[in-house]
Amino acid sequence: MAAEVDVLIVGSGPAGAMAAWALRGRPGVQMLDAGHTAAGLTSVGLEHLRAGAPPVSLKLRGPAVEFITRDAARLTPVVSASFPAVVSLAKGGLGNAWGGGVYRFRDGELGGLPDLTPHYDAVSRHIGVCGANDDLGAEFGLEPELLPPLRIGRNARAMLENYKRARPAGVTLGHARLAVRSGEYTYRANEFTSAGDPARYCPASTLDSLPGLTYSPGWVARRFRETEAGVEVEAVGLQGGCETFRARRLILAAGTLNTARIVLRSFDDFATRLPLLDNPITALPLVRWSGVGRGDDAPESGMAQLNIVLAAERFGRKFQGSLYGTRGAPPIEFAHRLPFSLTTNLRVLRALLPAVTLAMVFHPAAPGAQYLRLRPDGALEADYPWRADDALTLELVRVFRSLGFWAHAGMAHHAGPGQGIHYAGTLPMTERPGRYQLHRDGRLEGTRAVYVCDGSCFSHLPAKNLTFTIMANAHRIASGLR
Ligand SMILES: Cc1cc2nc3c(=O)[nH]c(=O)nc-3n(C[C@H](O)[C@H](O)[C@H](O)COP(=O)(O)OP(=O)(O)OC[C@H]3O[C@@H](n4cnc5c(N)ncnc54)[C@H](O)[C@@H]3O)c2cc1C
Repeated sequence: MAAEVDVLIVGSGPAGAMAAWALRGRPGVQMLDAGHTAAGLTSVGLEHLRAGAPPVSLKLRGPAVEFITRDAARLTPVVSASFPAVVSLAKGGLGNAWGGGVYRFRDGELGGLPDLTPHYDAVSRHIGVCGANDDLGAEFGLEPELLPPLRIGRNARAMLENYKRARPAGVTLGHARLAVRSGEYTYRANEFTSAGDPARYCPASTLDSLPGLTYSPGWVARRFRETEAGVEVEAVGLQGGCETFRARRLILAAGTLNTARIVLRSFDDFATRLPLLDNPITALPLVRWSGVGRGDDAPESGMAQLNIVLAAERFGRKFQGSLYGTRGAPPIEFAHRLPFSLTTNLRVLRALLPAVTLAMVFHPAAPGAQYLRLRPDGALEADYPWRADDALTLELVRVFRSLGFWAHAGMAHHAGPGQGIHYAGTLPMTERPGRYQLHRDGRLEGTRAVYVCDGSCFSHLPAKNLTFTIMANAHRIASGLR
């Protein structure tokens, strides 16, 4: 039996898109994707916001972004009491919703991955990265063509000035690094409830720029099987039916959870517990009292405005956070947190919100008791015990008070595993890979031609958003197949 294409990529999120881009110009590259797309709706009335159960992020709750998680709970379910997973079956994957924060992993953070510098550089040039080479430059790495940072608000400017004066021990603060072509960005309110700004990188734009790529949406890959000629992938159609796709080599980029599902199902393995990683979040509202009741400033970015890094020497482990203004979300989103009538709450919020900054601090993660397993009914079962660290919350309150912002530990919200949406670690890359581990070139141990290039590869997670590293590593692995 002849292989039909040279390389078959499963998934079109940041990982799959970067693999396809690394193979640009090469004949015989096909991408298999569930591939849901938006139905033309770009912004929403607040009455349409979907509340409640996961997906939890506001960025996944408006009808304009409904397509991102459409069908995922039905077709690729994850069952867990401790890990509310978010899965995407969309063209561009979760890259349709992401905040665009891009940070290079430094030495010691890469785990089993090799040096990625040339691949970070290539991805950076392709997607466009904005920010500043300020105090965080050494932490985030040098970009070959760093675009100017987005405009930040009055509160963020005040925090930066206070930081330069106070220089609290173990704290580094600076402009956010974002995959945004800052010159083309539109400053608008309620950004979180709209489809993404086109200036922010979305993987779908890469696919659309690759005329040589055979993009095949509408298929959910279930399993692979190696043959003499290469690999066969069995897929189920979103409109019904079943199809077998054939290739010489297969790259799995279905997102960490769905890649694990495909791999385990390919071996009919319903017993193995794969490791699982995510970055839990502590969210803390911060108030700059002099900002209460202040009128509009020049429009500011709805994306992360600043990043903060807390050193391990002072905080026990290294933590990283993003700081947001309140323009990205509609005031109604905060109204239920106040104790008065809706009308009074909204009036209070109108005065209060100009003074508020939201800190989202990511926790690092390492393998432990948490796991992912495939059940015979096709659902993934996950368990991820985690407890919030009250001592850290108190430290955060102290740090932000030293930067001129009031905070109270009682107002912290802990979004545990699953809600970080930085899934990784299921098929780690190691020096001497065993079963369900990867060789340096991305090849799955025990297979001849099956490669994995998404977050599965990581062996641990620093408290740093991981997608830039997923993209650089996917670029590296696919470049190796050229
Ligand atoms: C609200 C939000 C904000 C975020 N902000 C940031 C941030 O600022 N910085 C950062 O680094 N990360 C951020 N992330 C995380 C980031 O989006 C993910 O790390 C990234 O999208 C993972 O890329 P991926 O390609 O591995 O998987 P995904 O983006 O999940 O893409 C998976 C792809 O595989 C396809 N697929 C899945 N299963 C199958 C199947 N069985 N058959 C065929 N196709 C399949 C899907 O259609 C999709 O195209 C954020 C995520 C969210 C939700």
